[in-house]
Amino acid sequence: MSHLSNRKILVLGGSRGIGAAIVRKFASDGATVTFSYAGSEAAATTLAGETGAKAIRVDSADRGALVAALAAESPIDVLVVNAGTLVLGDPLKLDPDAVDRMIDVNIRAAYHASVEAARNMPANGRILIIGSTNGDRMPFPGGAAYAMTKSAIQGMVRGLARDFGDRGITINSIQPGPTDTDMNPAEGPMAATMHGFMAVKRHIRASEVADYAAFLASPAAAMITGSMQTIDGGFGA
Ligand code: NDP
Repeated sequence: MSHLSNRKILVLGGSRGIGAAIVRKFASDGATVTFSYAGSEAAATTLAGETGAKAIRVDSADRGALVAALAAESPIDVLVVNAGTLVLGDPLKLDPDAVDRMIDVNIRAAYHASVEAARNMPANGRILIIGSTNGDRMPFPGGAAYAMTKSAIQGMVRGLARDFGDRGITINSIQPGPTDTDMNPAEGPMAATMHGFMAVKRHIRASEVADYAAFLASPAAAMITGSMQTIDGGFGA
């Protein structure tokens, strides 16, 4: 029996990348897992078949649909907010609608989902938000809006930890550094630049982030709350 047996987990944005690795880890450890996706139906269907998890199509940018999905899955023992988008580029040229959509998915959805999950979350519940080391350090041009979304998560996590702590519910942000996914491939054009900022010069594996998430969901992490849990190979050091 793992600590995740008989725990109900909802992963927002679980069809690919870090979210898919978290779905695999939590399902293999015995949790009952539901995950959302927006565009990647084929990947979601394959992952659901592989893991036994339930896939639901919910666009995190649609607050009404998101809140309804949370209510339908309630009560949830562990909420993982992973869904995120990355819009990089010259701020004078970026499409403002793309920036606003990133704010909707990366910030607004994280807040409303966390509050909605906490409404009926039992004691020892866990809320994990996938932030980014860029919430602390943005060492190249073009990342201001993305970094802003990840810094916003830090304030939210600190505040909600105080709102939910009396109920034994913890909330933390996991802040990965460069992680090998479709968003940031280990062989991508930015890889060498990013490794230059790191102490351990390689991309992080999505499974390494998932293992960290499983630890933070465990009873051993009961006193870790309101914190940023950075796993970035020294990117922010
Ligand atoms: P990917 O682009 O590889 O995967 C993103 C996942 O989020 C997909 O499952 C996608 O689902 C889902 N998603 C995106 N938008 C929505 C939406 N509107 N509604 C529901 N689901 C959505 O990204 P990563 O796995 O790399 O990133 C995951 C998280 O980790 C993000 O928050 C990102 O900011 C963060 N992060 C990533 C780092 C990296 O280097 N990779 C570093 C630091 C943080 P679908 O395809 O079905 O739309």
